[in-house]
This record gives sequence, C-alpha cells and structure tokens, in this order.
Amino acid sequence: MKLKRLFGLTGHDLAIDLGTVNTLIHVAHKGIVLNEPSVIAFETINGQRHIKAVGSEARLMLGKTPENVRAVRPLRDGVIADIDIAEQMIKRLVDKALGGSSFARSHNVVVAVPSGSTMVERRAIRDAASNAGASRVQLIEEPMAAAMGAGLPVTEPIGAMVVDIGGGTTEVAVLSLRGIAYSGSVRVGGDKMDEAIVSFVRRHHNLLIGEVTAESVKHRIGRATKPDGTGEVITVKGRDLMNGRPGEIEISEAQISEALRESVSQIIGAVRHALEQTAPELAADIIDEGITLTGGGALLGRLDEALHQATGLPVRVAENPLTCVARGAGLALEDPIYDGVLRAG
Ligand code: ADP
Ligand code: MG
Repeated sequence: MKLKRLFGLTGHDLAIDLGTVNTLIHVAHKGIVLNEPSVIAFETINGQRHIKAVGSEARLMLGKTPENVRAVRPLRDGVIADIDIAEQMIKRLVDKALGGSSFARSHNVVVAVPSGSTMVERRAIRDAASNAGASRVQLIEEPMAAAMGAGLPVTEPIGAMVVDIGGGTTEVAVLSLRGIAYSGSVRVGGDKMDEAIVSFVRRHHNLLIGEVTAESVKHRIGRATKPDGTGEVITVKGRDLMNGRPGEIEISEAQISEALRESVSQIIGAVRHALEQTAPELAADIIDEGITLTGGGALLGRLDEALHQATGLPVRVAENPLTCVARGAGLALEDPIYDGVLRAG
C-alpha cells in the first residue's frame, strides 16, 4: 500500500451515496455506518429555517406535516433543487454517521454522482459536500461504484453491464478496464412506479392514497410481470374521492403489475438501447457475464425475469442491491487496485 494512502486514511475517509431516496455513508475500513432516507424536515419562522429532523425521523413526517413544517426530499429529481437545504441534510447525516464528531476533520470524501449529471449538477454536489465540511471532495461515477459494489470485474478487459434502478432514475452502463464504455440514463425509477400506483388506484377505485402508502404496496405486491390469475390481494387505505371520507379498497398483484407496466417497459427500453450501442467485443462479453441489477428498484418482483425475457441474456440481482453504490465508492477509497476510478471534485 502506498505511503501517502496510508497517511491519507488516518482521519475519516468517507464515501457518500447521495441517493434521491436513500443516503448511505461508508467509512473506510469500517463499512456502512449510516443508511437513511434522503429527507429533511424544517420549520420556517420569520424567514429563518429551523431543522426539525433528518433521515428516518424526517421520513415519518412525509405527507403528515402541520402547516408550518415541511418534510422534503431535496434530491428528489436527481438534481439538487435547493442547495442550502441539501447541504444541511448532508451535514446532519454526516455528523450522525460520525457520532457527532466534526466533519471538518475528515480528509477525503468521495461522492457518487449520476453519470448523466451535468457539470453544473456535479459542482452543486461537490459544493454541498465541501460547504458541509469536507476538506477534499472527489467524485465517482455512480454506475462504476454500483458495479464495484456488485463485485463486477471492472478493472479487467471484460465488458460488464450494470443497471442501477434508483428512486429518480435508471442508469444503464457498460464498464471495462476501470472506465465507462457506455452510459445512459432514463428518468424512471421507484418514484415513477409509486406515482403510477397512486394514479391507478385513483382512476380505478376512486381512492386517493399517499406516496408512502403507494411505495409500501409496491414493496409488498409489486411485480414486473403479470401473475397467473389475480395473484395476492391486499387492502389499501386512503381518502375516498366520492364522499371525501377515509376509505379502503382491495387491490391485486395483477392490477399493480398493470400499473407498473409503463415504468417496466421504459427500463427494458433503456437496456435494449444500451445493448444496441455497445461495441461488439463488449457485447460478446455481456452474453457471458450477463446483466447485473443494483439499486432499490432491482428488488421489484420478477424484474430480473422480465429483463431476461426481453433480452435473452442472463440477469442477476446484486447481493444487497441498495448498498452497492456506497460499498463500491468505499472500495475506491480503500483499495489501490481501483486507483483511477475517482475523479477530482
Ligand atoms: P436512490 O439511489 O435514488 O436513493 P435506492 O437505490 O436507494 O434509490 O432505491 C430506492 C427505491 O427502491 C425506492 O423507490 C424504493 O421504493 C425502491 N425499492 C426498495 N425496495 C423495493 C422492493 N422490495 N420492491 C420494489 N422497489 C423497492
Ligand atoms: Mg442510487
């Protein structure tokens, strides 16, 4: 191990997966020390913001806040919409990850950024991390981190395809020799699926449900392919649009797969498009290596099967798909074999 690296590791070397839904923080040689929703709740009094909660505690407030309090997901659309509030969230989460010890002492922070992000977006992310107290910020392309975390052979001359399905976007990339040979991103992910469930239930059952409820329906009975028959049936609660009162309906796996069809077909379209764009030698590798799914969306029931059917290629869900990006970004800090995958911030 190089000496400078040895010294570089004396403080807190952090890798941050700043996701639209979840933020994970990995401390070098320790592992993941924080995994919480990317949510912040604040109250505005006389134009001044007072932070009420971040992470899991703030998520519980989504859709349930009184008038003067707002619970928001500052990275919701994959871009930092409100830089100030994003910074506050990062700072609080890092403080929490380090057990209250100062972020100012951490030397080296690696933040995973979507490969489709613009220079302006990268600058916003980097500024947010340094304003939150990091002394040095480096960036890593999210698909690269995802592939590393999934254990793909990114340092070898072997093409590998990773599909990371997050809340806001799905990123498809082909990696080889520490570099990204192809990357593409579509604005479809878990959020779109949740919205599709909300509108399906409204249209077919006249019931208005919240996004948190829709997400839990997706987790319980969400499937990328139609089941034989109706499949499992569950009860969903919300507000009845006919009489304005709280109400409940029953909804089936078959109905939810119908609601999710459009999102699933967009993901399949993005993968097909990536395969068409891939150089022949790399494409040949992908036939053998197959496609690896990461991100929370990889856990959608039978998505691997749907992608296998659409492409004819082997498809596997990475182990712990929700933590791949953070573990991969952490590896980039820890292991010299990955020198060259980090970008100056
Ligand atoms: P991001 O990187 O954008 O923060 P994540 O990779 O953390 O996103 O994934 C979060 C998304 O994964 C959410 O939309 C969540 O609902 C979805 N998700 C998590 N578990 C499941 C599951 N079992 N089935 C379907 N979707 C899931
Ligand atoms: Mg992600």
